[in-house]
Amino acid sequence: MSSCVQSDKTESDKFEYVVDRFADVEILRYQVPGFEELTLNQKQLIYWLNEAALAGRDMLWDQNCRYNLQIRDLIEAVYLDRGGMKDEVQHEALELYLKQLWMGNGIHHHYSMDKFAPGFSREFLEARVNALPADKKPENAAELIDVIFDRNLEAKRVNQAEGADLVATSAANIYAPGLTQKEVEEYYNSIKVPGDTMPVSYGLNSRKVRGADGKVCEDVYSSKGLYAPAIKRIVENLEKASEFAENENQKAVIAKLIEYFNTGDLKAWDDYSILWLGETEGQVDFINGFIESYGDPLGLTGAYESIVNFKNNEASHRTEVLSADAQWFEDHSPIDPRFRKDEVKGVSAKVITAAILAGDSYPATPIGINLPNADWIRALHGSKSVTIENITAAYDAASHGNGFNEEFVIDEPTRELMDKYLFITDNMHTDLHECLGHGSGQLLPGVEADALKAHGSTLEETRADLFALYYLADPHLIELGLLDDPEAYKAEYYKYLLNGLMTQLVRIEPGKDIEEAHMRNRQLISQWVLEHGEPHNVLGLVKKDGKTYLEVNDYDALRQLFGKLLGEIQRIKSEGDYASGAALVEKYGVKVDPALHSEVLDRYSKLDIAPYRGFVNPVYSLVTDNDGNVTDVKVDYTENYVDQNLRYSREYSMPALR
Ligand code: ZN
Repeated sequence: MSSCVQSDKTESDKFEYVVDRFADVEILRYQVPGFEELTLNQKQLIYWLNEAALAGRDMLWDQNCRYNLQIRDLIEAVYLDRGGMKDEVQHEALELYLKQLWMGNGIHHHYSMDKFAPGFSREFLEARVNALPADKKPENAAELIDVIFDRNLEAKRVNQAEGADLVATSAANIYAPGLTQKEVEEYYNSIKVPGDTMPVSYGLNSRKVRGADGKVCEDVYSSKGLYAPAIKRIVENLEKASEFAENENQKAVIAKLIEYFNTGDLKAWDDYSILWLGETEGQVDFINGFIESYGDPLGLTGAYESIVNFKNNEASHRTEVLSADAQWFEDHSPIDPRFRKDEVKGVSAKVITAAILAGDSYPATPIGINLPNADWIRALHGSKSVTIENITAAYDAASHGNGFNEEFVIDEPTRELMDKYLFITDNMHTDLHECLGHGSGQLLPGVEADALKAHGSTLEETRADLFALYYLADPHLIELGLLDDPEAYKAEYYKYLLNGLMTQLVRIEPGKDIEEAHMRNRQLISQWVLEHGEPHNVLGLVKKDGKTYLEVNDYDALRQLFGKLLGEIQRIKSEGDYASGAALVEKYGVKVDPALHSEVLDRYSKLDIAPYRGFVNPVYSLVTDNDGNVTDVKVDYTENYVDQNLRYSREYSMPALR
């Protein structure tokens, strides 16, 4: 049965997830369950891929702003030169600033893109810089100090303001100083091949500069071009990794990536992406390159990023079991049999465990990956879509005890149930929603797929969520060995309704309606079951000490209500009944009760929950015998945020990039 659920939990309880807290950030660590069980070859493959990932760190810093590396060097040098440090208050402010630099991979906030404001004085920094030994004192120290303190210099990393010259006003070092948006756009227009149905990702791996002839050209990132020291080191480590590849395809993927790094040829990058999509046999996988383009005001150049991971066989087993049994779920769905599919196929989604987060995925990281980005490759070859479950597990575990459940959940038994089962039932809900929910049911002949028009996506998410909620309580999940306690589903039921009725409102500004489709769908379901269940004492909103709480009295009846609403939503979808669908969304999904909304905002603001989270990585080391043969790869979780970033600066710095 699902003993993994229980044992994971016990492990998690001992593990200290929260590492650091400063400004608007909480730093967590994550576990890498299953690493010990990998083969020695797989462990060494991961070890060298990790080294390749970390070798790219300085490139991202330099891409984010041309002063970042020099400012990091300077602030770290001052921070480490503690002998002369007299003023504790100023020193603490400097430490805070340094922690923010590491979180932002530079002098700008990773999310708002605004420059950090130092809490220490200019006089303090100038005095400390003067006291540094000569080899630590940069020639342009005065200029760097200006950039740190002058609010107008390099003010925004990526400027998206309507009407501004996005190239000239963004601090991102994708464009050399002096270039304008107009001339960069003209350059791109001049290199694009008209009618090309398989275009390369123009500008993906280069800094745009002004050539000797005064025209825009590209300084390409490659082992012979810009960032050569970092890219050479990535290539060396990829070559070592290749020796431990799990199969020939994986070897070919690595070889193509090396070719791309050595040449900077974007055609090689596309070929690599296609090979990478085709490699699904190995347990270990990774991304490494210039990938997402949010750091470029024009949205073309990729930020350096790497995530090394391996398939979580146990969790992927969950989605495989559901997919294999898709027909059973379809045949038992509480909908009119005319709307059921005679033959249904489930979708299997892969669940992975991250081993290292690097570049743009560190310290702040995504919880899923869906690549490649090139539209034509996705259309012709598909995409890989994965969930990083050890990261979501860390988020979940760290949220225990942040006061949220204590504030909003009605009583201790309900909180205990959520502590015990919410992680697994939340994941199961996602699995049921994705693997079966969206794919179930059929349209009656003649009904158009887009008959529900603007409400289509809200109603589709509603349908998939109801399918998941209804089946989460089904004993069949216990028969399949996916859950081991018939009460477990109650944790998800409570959380789902609490979120839909109250707590998701923290993301809505006072006076505004709900617009986002998933938020509408969650409120639609929650308000509908509240209206239909309250008169029969199934559930209700009750007041205790002047605060509003969700109370659920009859979970079994609640499940029947979910089933009933699923039947109706499926009817609306199958018949293309736009009027009924629109009426449901408008009545239950859009409007917010202003009094309850302001109560929720007020209670949430008192909790002091950090809006942003980042991670530290585990530390991997090779274990060797007396003859120097590698016998194991050890994982250590004890490194803290400050030590890790200082060590990365020592071990993975490329002085030539300054
Ligand atoms: Zn969905």
